[in-house]
Amino acid sequence: MSPAPLPIAPGDALAPLRLPVPERVFRDRATRLDALAPDHPAGDWLRFLARLARGQDRAVRELRAPTPPRAGGGPPLAGALAASARSWRAALEVVLAAARDGPLPGPARAAVERLEAAAPDALEALAAQVPGGAPEDLAAAPVVGAALQVHRARLAARVDPGAVSPGAGSCPVCGGLPAASVVLGDARARYLSCGLCGAEWNLPRVQCPVCRDASRLSYLAIEGGRPGVAAETCDRCRAYLKIFDLAEAPGADAIADDAATLVLDLLVGERGFLRAGVNPLAPGGERAWTA
Ligand SMILES: [Zn+2]
Ligand SMILES: [Zn+2]
Repeated sequence: MSPAPLPIAPGDALAPLRLPVPERVFRDRATRLDALAPDHPAGDWLRFLARLARGQDRAVRELRAPTPPRAGGGPPLAGALAASARSWRAALEVVLAAARDGPLPGPARAAVERLEAAAPDALEALAAQVPGGAPEDLAAAPVVGAALQVHRARLAARVDPGAVSPGAGSCPVCGGLPAASVVLGDARARYLSCGLCGAEWNLPRVQCPVCRDASRLSYLAIEGGRPGVAAETCDRCRAYLKIFDLAEAPGADAIADDAATLVLDLLVGERGFLRAGVNPLAPGGERAWTA
């Protein structure tokens, strides 16, 4: 059993930092992914991601919590990965079993088999590529990303918020990149949500998380698309990040809803913007799963 997570009141929307609650986040994500799947063109893939999320939830419940790294400078968890390789690989085994527990197209099945047969060194090499968002093995990456999320979320849940400096474009807890922004609470506060550890850090709205400029932002959305979803684009540095407004998209989850709105990334990419975030569950989208 892991110690109880630090209490972050749901109504405490202006806290500078919201730490993840591993016992809840993956279970809720699985529910969200299952809810997004019906009538979605990539519904089968979203159901596969839901299966991974259920595997993540199982790993949290069944595996011993990883040991927090010794504190140094910078984000408290920077370097936590190499320090406890065995812990994330134990999570990988549980997530792999969940991946197999349902239909898999040929390429995905082959990826699962590659991971099952891979030597520890090869797994570590793949794990090192996932945080950057451009892993070589795109079909295997979501399973590895899921295991890394379990590992980091459990470490992040135990971090002392007082030891964390404010963040901007990268996670102040683990150094990972955000998956997306969420806007929540009566205060309409904007939080960036770490794709790896799930910590959420406050950043004023209408500010580019990469260059901090506020003067050249635009919000692009798909006409007739899902409400409460936009890409916040910055004309100064040409970066963008999706933003989910929970008032209009209740129940939205940065990882799940990002995966369900990859069409928006295509549209924004065509206009020359570069994504400032990483979703470890969806680096190659549905295509990497089927082809
Ligand atoms: Zn993080
Ligand atoms: Zn910018």
